[in-house]
Amino acid sequence: MDFQTFDFQPQIMSGIKAAGYLSPTPIQQQAIPPVLNGSDVMGLAQTGTGKTAAFALPILQRLSSGGKGYVRALIVAPTRELAEQIHEAFNSLGQQTGLRSITVYGGVGINPQIAKLKRGTEIVVACPGRLLDHIKQGTIDLSKLDVLVLDEADQMFDMGFFPDIRRILKHLPKERQTLLFSATMPKEIRHLAHEVLHDAVTVQVGTTAPAETVSHALYPVAQHLKTALLRELLKRTDTESVLVFTRTKHRAKRLGQQLDRDGYRATSLQGNLSQNQRQKALDGFREGTFQILVATDIAARGIDVSQVSHVVNYDIPSTPEAYIHRIGRTGRATRKGDAFTLITNEDRGMVRAIEKLLNSTIERHTLDDFDYNAAAPPREPGKSRPPRSSGADRQRVAAKPGSRPVKNGSRTSKSAQGAQRSRGRQSQATV
Ligand code: AMP
Repeated sequence: MDFQTFDFQPQIMSGIKAAGYLSPTPIQQQAIPPVLNGSDVMGLAQTGTGKTAAFALPILQRLSSGGKGYVRALIVAPTRELAEQIHEAFNSLGQQTGLRSITVYGGVGINPQIAKLKRGTEIVVACPGRLLDHIKQGTIDLSKLDVLVLDEADQMFDMGFFPDIRRILKHLPKERQTLLFSATMPKEIRHLAHEVLHDAVTVQVGTTAPAETVSHALYPVAQHLKTALLRELLKRTDTESVLVFTRTKHRAKRLGQQLDRDGYRATSLQGNLSQNQRQKALDGFREGTFQILVATDIAARGIDVSQVSHVVNYDIPSTPEAYIHRIGRTGRATRKGDAFTLITNEDRGMVRAIEKLLNSTIERHTLDDFDYNAAAPPREPGKSRPPRSSGADRQRVAAKPGSRPVKNGSRTSKSAQGAQRSRGRQSQATV
């Protein structure tokens, strides 16, 4: 299935193209048609499944016709980070539509929000508390609302927002489309769904929690020995399709070429390729022409290849969530999958954060008869050092058989939260 199926307007298709989406994710395949139809939808899906675009795209399509200058779509989300992400998705997917989106949440001044609301906007992405403040003060008019989205409803419940949600609902027109998304379906969500949805279509995709069919392994190694170790791993392991992740486009391309020269049916998928080349690489991998695909995170989004037997993190991902997202490519359905992660000394913090998220320690492995102490080859004149490589990297390796498991810690995840928080800002844009 591709996005043509949905008959989106050209402006929206160009937003999809600009975002680099090649084909709809499962939740998009299921949710877009009923949302376009005007049906209420109950979506059981988590962040990371493409859920935001599953509602943003059909909402943009709906709003592209009809009046402008007043609030027609309201998305209520539990946190400002999520509100910002949703707002950004509307911005990027709807950049050609002329529709405007603003965010409304607490912890920041209310006056700039009032000013933006006065200027006029079609889309408001809000957290419940501040939205209620605007409603009480009469600084937001929701009387002509077409679509309401309640996103991450279970998290809103956990955060005690349901009384606010119910107050907000009283100020919305009864004639409207309502979409409710939740990762889980406890009885409180079922009650809310019963109150707000009419003849709803239910769509569901598997959770993004790591599949239990995936086994995880860490391979400590020096930066300069990663390729050698990967070659050994490939030689010694019985694999079907292998998805290898690198941190940069350049590394993906180079590693893909190296493996190809080694005689593997390998290719790379990275942002420097044309749309055509990307599609070719992806189709080739899906059909088995290529056994190994080396990809960056961005390029690999939305890849849904059921027979991936191994995911190899040649470079550790930059967030624990990205780890879950990457390894979600293997162990699909009831198949078994393996996730190998090559780690250097400087990846310790991220390893801790991943283990914390998984709530377990990942086993460290070493390969027998692999020369962990091999020296780095002399650098060719004019060639730069690999990115992010540190002195520690170039020292002899950290890998010791039976090395102590790293204990869980919270520092990394706290600083990740801090980084997220610092991204929080209000914004208004033509989307
Ligand atoms: P979400 O579940 O909405 O948080 O989306 C997770 C990530 O997937 C976001 O970075 C989206 O930009 C990306 N994404 C959404 N839909 C697609 C798609 N059809 N193809 C590739 N990536 C997508």
